[in-house]
Amino acid sequence: MKANEIRSKFLEFFESKKHQIVPSAPMVIKDDPTLMFTNAGMNQFKEYFLGNATPKSARVTDTQKCLRVSGKHNDLEEVGKDTYHHTMFEMLGNWSFGDYFKKEAIAWAWELLTEVFKVNPEILYVTIFEGDEEDGIGKDEEAYGFWKEIVPEERILLGNKKDNFWEMGDQGPCGPASEIHIDIRSEEEKAKISGKELVNQDHPQVVEIWNLVFIQFNRKADGSLVELPNKHIDTGMGFERLCMVLQDVKSNYDTDVFTPLIREIQTITNSTYGKSEETDIAIRVIADHVRAVAFAIADGQLPSNNGAGYVIRRILRRAIRYGFTFLNKKEPFIYKFVATLSQQMGTAFPELKKQKNLCENVIKEEENSFLKTLDQGLVLLDQIIEAAKEKNLPADRQVSGKKAFELYDTFGFPIDLTALILNERGFKLNETEFEEELQKQKDRSRSAAQTKAEDWQILREDDEEEFIGYDSLEGEVKITRYRKV
Ligand code: ATP
Ligand code: MG
Ligand code: MG
Ligand code: MG
Repeated sequence: MKANEIRSKFLEFFESKKHQIVPSAPMVIKDDPTLMFTNAGMNQFKEYFLGNATPKSARVTDTQKCLRVSGKHNDLEEVGKDTYHHTMFEMLGNWSFGDYFKKEAIAWAWELLTEVFKVNPEILYVTIFEGDEEDGIGKDEEAYGFWKEIVPEERILLGNKKDNFWEMGDQGPCGPASEIHIDIRSEEEKAKISGKELVNQDHPQVVEIWNLVFIQFNRKADGSLVELPNKHIDTGMGFERLCMVLQDVKSNYDTDVFTPLIREIQTITNSTYGKSEETDIAIRVIADHVRAVAFAIADGQLPSNNGAGYVIRRILRRAIRYGFTFLNKKEPFIYKFVATLSQQMGTAFPELKKQKNLCENVIKEEENSFLKTLDQGLVLLDQIIEAAKEKNLPADRQVSGKKAFELYDTFGFPIDLTALILNERGFKLNETEFEEELQKQKDRSRSAAQTKAEDWQILREDDEEEFIGYDSLEGEVKITRYRKV
C-alpha cells in the first residue's frame, strides 16, 4: 500500500466512526510564545482541552505536520543516525473532546491496525500506565481491562510516568497513556534476545507507533490531581513508522515516503545508499532535512539569524555539512530535491506545490552562502592547525577553544565540524574553553538588544531590485518577492 493511500485510509476509517477530517495546522506557530513549532497533533486543540474554546465537532481526525527540533521534544541529533526519528514527520491522530473514551479509543486503534491494515497482531505490543504513588493513582486498570479483551496478557506491559503519563505542563489537563509498539525483528534476531526486554530499548525494529492519551485529570496548582468532568482522547501515530510496518520494510527510509528522495540524492551526489554507514547517515540526513526546511518555508518561515528562522537555518546547514563532508558536494544541490518532494507530497499538502519556487530559491541561496562560509572556515581552520603544529603542543594536542569559537561566531562554522576536522588531523578541541566562550557570548547577547533584523526581506511591489525568491498564491492576487540582505 502506497503512503498516500495509507494516509487516506487512516482518515477515512475515523470518518466512518463519525470523526470530522480537519486540515493540519501550520508546522510553524506564529502566535504562541511557548512553542515555535507544532510538535504533536494535539497542539492545535490545546484550547479545547483547557476549556477555553468549544470545538465544532466532538470527534476529529487529521494528519499533522510536526517538527521536533527544539524544546521538550528535540530529536535532531538522532535523525539520520537512527531510522525512525525524523525532524519533520506526520502525526496521524483522532480526538474525542468530552465524547468517547478509553474503550472506543483502544478498540478502534486495534480494529484499524489489525482489520483494516491487516497488521499481524502477533507483532504488536501494548503498554499501560503502571500508576504513581506520589500522585496517589494506581495502575490504569480500565485500559488494562479493555486491552485484555483483545491482546494476550503477556503482551500488555507496564510503563512508567515518563513514557505513559502525559501532561500539558506543570498544571492543567493530563492523564495516563497507552502505547502500541511493533516488533518487526526477524525470527533470527528474536532468538538472540527474548522479546519483552527490547520494548522501548532503542532497537530500530522494536518501536512505538501509536500513543493513546486518556486525558482524565486536571493537575491543580498545588500539584494534586482531580478527575475532569469531561474526559478527552488524544492519539498520535507516526505516519512514516506506520508506512514502514505496512510496506514490510525495516526502516522508515525504505518506505515510499523517502525512496523517491533517496533515489534522487544518489543520482545527484553520485553515491549509493546501503553501502557504508557514513554515507547512509548523510543520505538520510539530507532526505529528512530537506522535508523539514521545505515545509517550514512553505509555511512562511524563512531561514534567519534568530528564533524559529535560526532553527530552520541550522537544520539546513546540518544537511549541507553532511553533503559537504561525506558526499563531497561543494556546490548547492539540496534545493534540487524540492521538486521530488512536492511531487510526492503536494497533493496532501498543496502549500508545497504552491511554494515550490520559493523553497528552491531560498534553499539554493542559503546553500550558496553557507558553502562559502565552509570554504573560508576551512582555510582558517587550516591556519589554526598549522599554527598549532608549530607551537610545542602538549601531548594531547589540544587546539584552543577560543580559536574555534571565533570560527563559529564570525563564520557560523559549526563546532561539531571543527571538532571532526581536528580529529581527522590528529588534534583535539578544547571543549571546555569553547563552552566558556559560548557562555560569555550568550551573556553578552542577553544584555544587548534582542531584536535583530531578518535577512530575508520582503520587497515592496514597486521595488525594482533584483530578487531571489518569490511566492505567489494560486487564485490569489498576492505575490511576495524576497531579497536576501
Ligand atoms: P519515541 O519514544 O519513539 O521517541 P515519543 O514517545 O516521543 O516517540 P509521542 O510524543 O508519543 O512520541 O508521539 C506520538 C507518535 O509519533 C509516536 O508513537 C511515534 O510513532 C511518532 N513519533 C514521535 N517522534 C517522532 C519522530 N521524531 N519522528 C517520527 N515519528 C515520531
Ligand atoms: Mg520521543
Ligand atoms: Mg515514547
Ligand atoms: Mg509516546
